[in-house]
Amino acid sequence: MSNNDAIREHLKYFRDLGVQGVTTDPVWRERGPRPLSGGEASSPPAADGTDATDGLVQVRARIGDCTRCKLHALGRQQIVFGVGNPHADLMFVGEAPGSDEDRQGVPFVGRAGQLLTKIIEAIKLSRDDVYIANVIKCRPPGNRNPEPDEVETCEPFLAEQIDLVRPRVIVALGTFAAHTLLRTETPISRLRGVVHEYRGAKLIPTFHPAYLLRSPTRKRDVWEDMKTVRALLDAAQ
Ligand code: SF4
Repeated sequence: MSNNDAIREHLKYFRDLGVQGVTTDPVWRERGPRPLSGGEASSPPAADGTDATDGLVQVRARIGDCTRCKLHALGRQQIVFGVGNPHADLMFVGEAPGSDEDRQGVPFVGRAGQLLTKIIEAIKLSRDDVYIANVIKCRPPGNRNPEPDEVETCEPFLAEQIDLVRPRVIVALGTFAAHTLLRTETPISRLRGVVHEYRGAKLIPTFHPAYLLRSPTRKRDVWEDMKTVRALLDAAQ
C-alpha cells in the first residue's frame, strides 16, 4: 500500500468514527504534561507496596500452566495473560482470547485487535501506553461465551491485574466484559454513555471491536465513549 493510500484509509477510518476534519491547534498535538508511556510510573505502587511490574510477573507465575477450570482441556494453545504498560492510566478489558490471540499469546491481535489499536490511537495513545487483558485467560472452544464456573475461577486473576496496574479508567469491551465487571444483565446499549465505578477506577462500557466489524455504524457511539475516556484522563492529569 502506498503512503497516500495509507493516509486515505487512516482518514476514512476517522471519518467513520464521526471525527469532523483535523486541526492544527497545538493543544491537540500535545499528549499532555505527563507522558503515559516510556516507562515512567504514573501510578504509585499497589497498596501492599508491590510494584506493578513485579506483581504482574508474580501473578503470571502463579497462574502457571493453569488447570483450574475446564478450559485448560478444551483446546487452548496457551494462556493469554495480558499486555501493555504495568503503570497504565487506561486499561481495556475484553471477554476471552480468540483464535489469533490463542496462537500468539497476546490479547486483541486479530482484526478486532487491529481495530482496537486504531481506537486507542484515536485518543492520542498507543498500545504501549495502555494495559489490555481479558476476563478469561484461555480460549473457549468455538469462541463460545465463557461459562459461569470458568468466570468464577479465572476472574480473580483479572482483579489482581487491575489492583496492581491501578488504572484511572477501565474500558469494558463488549457485553460480556461489562456484565461480568458490573455484575449486571443490563444491555450494553444502556450501560454505555454512563461513567461507572469499579475497583477505584472509572469504568466505561462500550461496544466490542468485533461487534464494530459487523456493525460499523456503531463506531460513532464508541468514538463518543472514547472522548469521555480522553476527558477523564485529561481531568486526572
Ligand atoms: S481460563 Fe483461567 S482458570 Fe481456566 S484454565 Fe485458563 S487460566 Fe486457568
